Amino acid sequence: MTAKITFDSDRCKGCELCAAVCPKHIVALDKSRLNRKGYHPASVTDMAACIGCASCAKICPDSVITVEKF
Ligand code: SF4
Ligand code: SF4
Repeated sequence: MTAKITFDSDRCKGCELCAAVCPKHIVALDKSRLNRKGYHPASVTDMAACIGCASCAKICPDSVITVEKF
C-alpha cells in the first residue's frame, strides 16, 4: 500500500503524540523548522515506510494530519 501523509504544519503544537503512536517510528518533530506558532512541527522522516494505518492522524488533538491511501 502507498500512503501519503500531509501536515497542516502551522496548526501543530509539537506535542509528539503522533510520534509516540506511529508503529514504524517515522514521525518526528522537524527541528530544522519553526511553524507560525513557534513550534517545531511534526513530519514524516521516511514516507516509503508508512503503512497508512492513520494512527498518527487519529491521535492528533488538533487534526493536523491527513492520511491518504492509494
Ligand atoms: S499512517 Fe501509521 S505508519 Fe504512517 S506515519 Fe502515521 S502512524 Fe506512522
Ligand atoms: S499530534 Fe498533532 S499537534 Fe501533536 S505533534 Fe503530532 S501533528 Fe503536532
